[in-house]
Amino acid sequence: MIFKKCDCSLLTGTEINSYKVFEELGAFFEQQVNKRIYKDVPVNKPFYIGHSTLKKREIKWYATKWYKCSICGCLWEFNYPDFPQKGFVRKFEDGKYIET
Ligand SMILES: [Zn+2]
Repeated sequence: MIFKKCDCSLLTGTEINSYKVFEELGAFFEQQVNKRIYKDVPVNKPFYIGHSTLKKREIKWYATKWYKCSICGCLWEFNYPDFPQKGFVRKFEDGKYIET
């Protein structure tokens, strides 16, 4: 029997402040999905809710990707950078999303 192991405990969330970091993270998540360790899951909660002062409308920002670890249940939020706007990766250890 083969036990799959995940690397979640070794990883933490991070800011994405360069293309190099972005590419490395993108490759990492893709690899984990290919190995069926992480599952690409729909993003159903915004990481930011704000209000537009101009139109008095609610603004919701959603991350680009969510990945769920099939081994430890960890949830990863991956927001692609749009430079100069930085991206980020956030980790939710028990798989429960905490809205900010
Ligand atoms: Zn894991």
